[in-house]
Amino acid sequence: MNPYRLPRTAVPSRYDIWLEPDLTTLTFRGTETVALDVVEPISDVTLNAVELTIESASLENDRGETIRATPTMDDTMERCRLTLGSPAAPGRWRLRLAFRGTLNDKLRGFYRSVYKEPTGVSRTMAATQFEATDARRAFPCWDEPSFKAVFAVTLAIDPALTAVSNTAIVGETRENGRKIVRFADTIKMSTYLVAFVVGELEATDATMIGRTPLRVWCVPGKKHLARFGQHIGAASLAFFEQYYGVPYPGDKLDLLAIPDFAAGAMENLGAITFRETALLVDETAASHAELERVADVVAHENAHMWFGDLVTMSWWNGIWLNEAFATFMEMLAVDAWKPEWQRWATFGVSRAAALSLDGLHSTRPIEFPVTSPRDADAMFDVLTYEKGASVLRMLEQYLGPDVFRAGVRDYLETHRLDNADTGDLWAALGRASQQPIPAVMDGWIFRPGHPVVTVSREGGELVLAQQRFNYLREPLPPAAPEPDQPWQVPVQLRVHGRSAVEERVLLTERQARRRLGEPGDVVVANAGGHGFYRVRYAPDLLEALLKRLDLLVPIERFNLVNDAWAMAVAGLMPLTAYVDLTARFREERDRNVWSVLTASFYAINRLVAPAERARLEALVRDRVAPAFAALGWTPRGGDDELTRQLRGDLARALGVLGNDAAVQARAAEIYAGSLKQRGSVDPNLLPAVIAVLAQAGDAGRYEEFLAAFRSAKTPQDEQRYLYALAAFRDPALLRQTLDRTINGEIRTQDAPFVVRSMLMSVYARELAWDFVKRQWDTMDGLYPKHAMRRLAEGVTGLATRELEADVQAFFAAKKPQFGGKVLAQYLEQLHVAVTLREREAAALSGYLSKLG
Ligand SMILES: [Zn+2]
Repeated sequence: MNPYRLPRTAVPSRYDIWLEPDLTTLTFRGTETVALDVVEPISDVTLNAVELTIESASLENDRGETIRATPTMDDTMERCRLTLGSPAAPGRWRLRLAFRGTLNDKLRGFYRSVYKEPTGVSRTMAATQFEATDARRAFPCWDEPSFKAVFAVTLAIDPALTAVSNTAIVGETRENGRKIVRFADTIKMSTYLVAFVVGELEATDATMIGRTPLRVWCVPGKKHLARFGQHIGAASLAFFEQYYGVPYPGDKLDLLAIPDFAAGAMENLGAITFRETALLVDETAASHAELERVADVVAHENAHMWFGDLVTMSWWNGIWLNEAFATFMEMLAVDAWKPEWQRWATFGVSRAAALSLDGLHSTRPIEFPVTSPRDADAMFDVLTYEKGASVLRMLEQYLGPDVFRAGVRDYLETHRLDNADTGDLWAALGRASQQPIPAVMDGWIFRPGHPVVTVSREGGELVLAQQRFNYLREPLPPAAPEPDQPWQVPVQLRVHGRSAVEERVLLTERQARRRLGEPGDVVVANAGGHGFYRVRYAPDLLEALLKRLDLLVPIERFNLVNDAWAMAVAGLMPLTAYVDLTARFREERDRNVWSVLTASFYAINRLVAPAERARLEALVRDRVAPAFAALGWTPRGGDDELTRQLRGDLARALGVLGNDAAVQARAAEIYAGSLKQRGSVDPNLLPAVIAVLAQAGDAGRYEEFLAAFRSAKTPQDEQRYLYALAAFRDPALLRQTLDRTINGEIRTQDAPFVVRSMLMSVYARELAWDFVKRQWDTMDGLYPKHAMRRLAEGVTGLATRELEADVQAFFAAKKPQFGGKVLAQYLEQLHVAVTLREREAAALSGYLSKLG
């Protein structure tokens, strides 16, 4: 019996909720009637509630019986126990409750968001964020995903305001000077999906997708930024109806941009909430990366309307399936909408992030037993989203897309309006494919880590061998090494000999041999790039590949570089050999391959001593300059969107990491020109120009960027200048930025990420770490839940032995509660970096000095 689960002696089927928020006093009052099925005689009713005052409670039934109930709050368990004046017999009852609470500033439950109008006047709105377990802060409820019920919400609001909830409005009246807005019944769904937003809101005209009207909502003055979000919203909704073969489960779909929002977005059925950067964008002024983010997040949330909302995990251990699937579907939908974006190739970057975390001893299985909801909080990471989506993609490619889709449709049909588990999806996919899915998948889902597949040739035979990949030979104490069992690895091989041959091998044992090709042939393992494993080629095979990079598609080149970098970090390849390998990519023109190359240069930059930095800058210029010179500063007619984005990425790498004076000077000219004539610079280049100027900037530039941050006209513009404030080199300026993370100037939704980026900057990290140590408690008090976990990720950039010791000592004393293994992961990542530094520093120094 899990002590965190509510008893099922009384089960709710319907909530009639009436709420009256007051944006002036920042409080709310509410009443609710919950239809209950009492399954055995009870003398009390236990449900979730926290930070609420219950003013009255009673049970009644259709036979005219009324039982008074006395509430007792349990703040630790976030519960309310209602002791009944007399026992209630099994049957149907109605629980009536009256309560009140506060519109908090912690961006969870029913909370307030404060924003400035274009005129500079401050306004307040109220919004909700319930996942995982914060519905209980807005109304007393059975706040577990398996207690699905119908919700009928009524909001009593200031007549000047607008209210939005999960469903369409069915009635609007006036009573006692309030506007009473009544919403239609929802489908049977979980509490964490309920939402309501109240404020001065504007909406776009509706786009009709079949019978579903789709609108974008925002605070006044931003409606012109809604077009792009509405387009991908409409396209993905239509795509999902077709893919799932099940109609959209709501009666309308509203996408709402909220000025203060802790997460990226939240899939409330019919009323999806977003932080502004994830929904509102000026298409003509945004970079490809900024547009891609909006498209991704909107498609992701829409995918949840079926997968998560219509069919929901039974308990929080199932979060991974919810999120992994939505991430996978987001890729499919965006790829179908804009094939020229090559979304699955760019997904390599996300897969790489998951592989990187999953190479730690302190990684975790994708799915693990969750007892308390706090443990579930630690599931919202790259292992759930990106590793989860990667293994689903691997399975989809292995089974074939049509078979996979048939299994998904079967799953949704079988479990609609209900709850389901991982095993239910495997069963449905098994029915569709006639294959034993758990045998293939369980190793990937229920065991931590992933394999490295070593590929070598012995005469006419290719030898494939697998073992678990780890950056460190031994885990950090007190953890013990885990047994290394083989995975079932779908290995896609391609051999270029006289002709190209493809072969699929399900590697189930430690080693397999295949008669394939001849010595000297080019061999690609993980052909197509969908596999969630690393590949380590024998030296002769690696050299053959590097000579024929033209035979590889971009995702295969991406994986080649990314795996080589991982081998270097793990000590399976000398770092200097990796740096040498990067010279083979001077002619590279793919944006993603460049992203992994530059990410590795950033990581190396955090390892070199300040005295070595100039030499590393020269190396970066040597690698990047030829590709940038070939592209030039000015977009050409035939450039596609990815090429334009690559131009910006390379300019940034040269100007920041390469410290290239010519690039910095040109960036200053371009920026000055853009101020004179808005729109004169390609939107893909402008964010890079701003970043370059910050790195090279003085106090005057800082003031200029600070003013631009304050008066930004789009969420994207605001972000560019905000992060620029973290990227200066002058300590006095960096101190100013740090102060702004706790004095209210930077929103609490952004401040933790700004501090994190400073901890990762070689110019700011020591200052920032000092500041974090001193202000930890202040930040913890100010920022939303989970913010300190995100902020603390920055310590992985403090890659010296001395700083590592200081970080360990600080956390040993502070004992932060990040949930799960998060802290152990940060400490191991930091140790991986310090180990790499100490192992390779001398060799790298010699290598760099030889370059002159
Ligand atoms: Zn999601």
